[in-house]
Amino acid sequence: MMFPPFARQQLCNEKDGELLTCPICHDVFKDPKCHGPCGHYLCESCWLKCLHSCNDVCPICRCHLDNTLIRWDQGMIMYMSSVQIKCAYLRCCWKGKLEDYANHLENCAAKELENVQQIAEKEIGKLLNKLGEKRRTRSRSRNRG
Ligand SMILES: [Zn+2]
Ligand SMILES: [Zn+2]
Ligand SMILES: [Zn+2]
Repeated sequence: MMFPPFARQQLCNEKDGELLTCPICHDVFKDPKCHGPCGHYLCESCWLKCLHSCNDVCPICRCHLDNTLIRWDQGMIMYMSSVQIKCAYLRCCWKGKLEDYANHLENCAAKELENVQQIAEKEIGKLLNKLGEKRRTRSRSRNRG
């Protein structure tokens, strides 16, 4: 994958959301590729779905699909790399170009905090379970005696 996955809400400009929405999955493009003969863009996985369906036609213009002509397109890569995007983590106030987003995610403190919190919650859950079991056994023996 060329860019890290992102959601439409992360885009700073509504116009980018319109241009980057896949007409098949109605989500932002994931690895968009262009079918040379007609110039239409779909996610790579959405093209694959069309190729596997029996009719092998472009879902937008109904022209015949040639899978050897479905490619990365330099123009789209350049456009996407400069799109302004916000970090997916709510506590983070980072904003920048999509091409810098992967780098940012490696150093995002909000992401790390969320990971640490998840690990901590799991450990706390385990400990609470242990304590709960102890409490239960203790009250059971108390009831008996
Ligand atoms: Zn798609
Ligand atoms: Zn087409
Ligand atoms: Zn961040």
